[in-house]
Amino acid sequence: MAGVPFSFEFYPPKTDEQRAQLDRTAEKLKVHAPEYVSCTFGAGGSTLSYTSETVRHLKQSHGFDAAPHLSCVGGSREEIRELLKLYKAIGCRRIVALRGDLPSGMGHPGDLRYASELIEFIRAEHGDAFHIEVGAYPETHPQSEDALTDLKHFKAKVDAGANGAITQYFYNADAYFHFVDAVRRLGVEIPIVPGIMPISNYTQLKRFSEACGAEIPRWIGKRMQALGDDVDSVREFGADLVAALCDRLIAGGAPSLHFYTLNLSKPTMNVIARVR
Ligand code: FAD
Repeated sequence: MAGVPFSFEFYPPKTDEQRAQLDRTAEKLKVHAPEYVSCTFGAGGSTLSYTSETVRHLKQSHGFDAAPHLSCVGGSREEIRELLKLYKAIGCRRIVALRGDLPSGMGHPGDLRYASELIEFIRAEHGDAFHIEVGAYPETHPQSEDALTDLKHFKAKVDAGANGAITQYFYNADAYFHFVDAVRRLGVEIPIVPGIMPISNYTQLKRFSEACGAEIPRWIGKRMQALGDDVDSVREFGADLVAALCDRLIAGGAPSLHFYTLNLSKPTMNVIARVR
């Protein structure tokens, strides 16, 4: 089951310790020759420079094709314009364009309301200079009115100029296949890459999943609960489960896989070792 490209997602480190960890992780994951790596972006400005610094570092010190995430919520057109200029100057060719989520308590929604408006802005300012990836939600975005409206909003991002999509993570392959079928029926032709979240810590996974609306199937939750603090068994079970998901996605036509690494190498490598 070899042959599909991988990409790896990192978050921007803020301390020396976190920077050293990202360097170790990047070194280890390099062996898998990712198509590109990406770096997340915190809405509201707090990690503005962390993302660009990390992208520059991943390019210059590790030789990766590195793509910044760029979210529009909480930002002005001018701030986004400056960031785009900076990314162009650094030599970035790919951007993951998102609406983002405002941290609770932060009031100002920003000049652009939705990712589709951000894509229109990027295209208006820079034409085709950037390859634009967008977010996709096989289990439906948690704030959407309903699943069909959400699909239409997804299509609006493609019509605005998105070149590819990366999904929110999921553990039910059928959700992905149904999503791909549904958007193909709407005329969407761009690649839709599954986002893969390796499992190594159930408590953390549960917290993330509640926040982003990703479902952990009941049987998986029950099994992980039963394994409790037995860290090795949780990792083994998680790696087998996620590798089986990847195999199914590849067999069903997924064009590549995007791993949410959380800046750790082991959980992702344990999955890849079983996939290949
Ligand atoms: P949008 O596509 O704008 O959609 C957001 C919601 O608005 C949906 O419910 C949609 O149905 C609805 N909507 C869209 N258009 C309209 C319209 N015209 N009228 C009414 N409703 C509409 N967050 C970060 O802060 N930083 C990151 O780095 C980051 N990286 C991510 C990477 C990936 C691959 C994914 C899948 C998500 C990432 N996120 C990140 C999370 C993302 O920002 C949130 O899920 C956010 O809530 C939605 O972003 P979006 O770009 O999908 O929004």
